[in-house]
Amino acid sequence: MPNAQPPTTLESGAPGGPLETRWSRHKADLKLVGPTNRRKFSVIVVGTGLAGASAAATLAEQGYNVKAFTFHDSPRRAHSVAAQGGINAAKNYQNDNDSTFRLYYDTIKGGDFRGRESNTYRLAEVSANIIDQAVAQGVPFAREYGGTLANRTFGGVLVSRTFYARGQTGQQLLLGAYSSLNRMVDTGKVELHTRKEMHDLIVVDGKARGIVVRDLKTGKFEAHMAHAVVLGTGGYANVFYLSTNAMNCNVTAAWRAHKRGAFMANPCYTQIHPTCIPQHGDYQSKLTLMSESLRNDGRVWVPRNPADAGKSPEQIAAADRYYYLEEKYPTFGNMVPRDVASRNAKYVCDDGLGVGATKRAVYLDFADAIRRDGEDTIRSKYGNLFHMYAKITGDNPYKTPMRIYPAPHYTMGGLWVDYNLMSNLPGLFVIGEANFSDHGANRLGASALMQGLADGYFVLPYTIAGYLAGELHATVPSADCDEAKAAIDDSKNAIQSLFDVKGSRSVESFHRELGLLMLDKVGVSRNREGLEHAIGRIREIRDEFKQNVRIPGDPNMVNPEIEKAGRVADFLEFAECKALDALTREESAGGHFREEHQTPEGEAKRDDENFCHVTAWEYSGDVTAPVEHRESLEFEYVKLTQRSYK
Ligand SMILES: Cc1cc2nc3c(=O)[nH]c(=O)nc-3n(C[C@H](O)[C@H](O)[C@H](O)COP(=O)(O)OP(=O)(O)OC[C@H]3O[C@@H](n4cnc5c(N)ncnc54)[C@H](O)[C@@H]3O)c2cc1C
Repeated sequence: MPNAQPPTTLESGAPGGPLETRWSRHKADLKLVGPTNRRKFSVIVVGTGLAGASAAATLAEQGYNVKAFTFHDSPRRAHSVAAQGGINAAKNYQNDNDSTFRLYYDTIKGGDFRGRESNTYRLAEVSANIIDQAVAQGVPFAREYGGTLANRTFGGVLVSRTFYARGQTGQQLLLGAYSSLNRMVDTGKVELHTRKEMHDLIVVDGKARGIVVRDLKTGKFEAHMAHAVVLGTGGYANVFYLSTNAMNCNVTAAWRAHKRGAFMANPCYTQIHPTCIPQHGDYQSKLTLMSESLRNDGRVWVPRNPADAGKSPEQIAAADRYYYLEEKYPTFGNMVPRDVASRNAKYVCDDGLGVGATKRAVYLDFADAIRRDGEDTIRSKYGNLFHMYAKITGDNPYKTPMRIYPAPHYTMGGLWVDYNLMSNLPGLFVIGEANFSDHGANRLGASALMQGLADGYFVLPYTIAGYLAGELHATVPSADCDEAKAAIDDSKNAIQSLFDVKGSRSVESFHRELGLLMLDKVGVSRNREGLEHAIGRIREIRDEFKQNVRIPGDPNMVNPEIEKAGRVADFLEFAECKALDALTREESAGGHFREEHQTPEGEAKRDDENFCHVTAWEYSGDVTAPVEHRESLEFEYVKLTQRSYK
């Protein structure tokens, strides 16, 4: 339960006044660090995905001394590489009446009016610069016949603003950011540390001054110090065990920073993506995304009668097919936002209309698109996705509809940051999916790449200067200061005590049990009883983990089980905070659907009077009793309405 103290108020520091000039006025007010002084500063960047790599490269290019860390063997392995569908930008290349304001509006509405207005507008504003930057780096975006960049549509919008590189947009963007990063490694301005995992944040006199890392090849712990620390360590969807994320994505860096004082904001906001290959076995460890871009041409349906659910799709006549998204939401049809599409897939499966062996799947059918445009056109747009689907399922999606079902995918919550992307801990900045971000309670498709690169290329490099300018005369503590030594000891002891349990259950089995519980009780829909049950069970699983986990091998060498154990230990604590946040938020908003709060049509029903705020949790020293803080959300440029995609 939350700590009994009444919630205190957090200030975002976002500027007021006309929306369209807020960022430029703020930039003009930010202090600068002169070029000759920049070389006196060091900045640690943890994470080399799109957010971290773009930030590290840009800061180094500006002249700061950057130390970049990743637990991967190469920055190119960051989970950003998996992004398929595209990246949004308000370029209006299709001349379909897009604009910065429209991208801002779609994002605020898509997030069910739980995002911060100034941040969301800034995101829309800098989106155009990202495309220019990426094109200049040579990112091979898809082009029209005449050479102009192509666009497609993603959910929750009525324009085409998504730039893409076939189904490999994240990989191509990451190659761009990685090239920039490597260029700076070559100049000596970036010191790149691969296979090093952050285990703790070092706080000295109330400021973030360093990190503790474990060298994954030797098991040794080291402290690294700097004037500021930037976390770009990704999201926490793997708390559900089965998700579309890479299997080593985790919450560790953010959670350890939280335990050193950084607030965790809106952890209950998770995106369950509607189009994933359904789970097919109990011992599966990963789910595969089928990009939302497929909904541009694929039609979602289930049999209208439960009696037909066992038939193969071609045996079901057109009149007996229930195109439920097109029927319920005629304006947006199959392109409704992800939270709406996922909930509706669950509803039809709950009603016995689900297809496939498990009856927890719906069809995504390309027959009409292939008839209309030809198989070659569909192949040129989605060839690699169709290939991936065929490899995994053994079905040919050119001939028979894909079967899809929602799966945990993205996390809108994360460490709380102000308008400058600085956490409540001075000197700790958080970017990309790791921060609680600009997306409110639901993220629109193709907006995560946009946000990660906006943060890394165009926001943090300005705002961090505002902080560093005040640190010109500060001395960075040495790596053997008391605080660093104590943090190293804490990390060593935490690993050793897990290793010493020598119980009988594998780390994986605890993770799987936690994930199933989270999916069932803290997943697509939640209710009070389920959330209370989840909190009780999480505590029991956590207790058993401490008494019965078995970690084979040696802690002082390469040992993936130790790595996993530390991450699962953090998920077991974080999960409680997430469930508590969901319990406390007595409304439905975007991806947070409380069954007690819904409209008669089954849509999310917000409570703007009582919950138009960000909830940020402070670690109190006891994971079962965090302290609640709130940042109230003000909207001057949109009217808060019941979100409708009909
Ligand atoms: C399958 C899939 C498809 C997607 N498709 C799209 C799409 O088409 N469009 C879109 O906009 N979004 C998409 N997304 C979302 C998007 O890819 C992510 O939100 C985004 O790439 C996250 O970038 P990031 O830099 O914040 O984090 P990541 O790319 O996850 O990078 C995190 C980095 O932090 C490092 N790290 C983490 N913890 C530690 C630690 N403790 N110590 C050291 N290093 C650490 C990792 O090694 C890595 O380098 C997709 C997501 C998935 C799962």
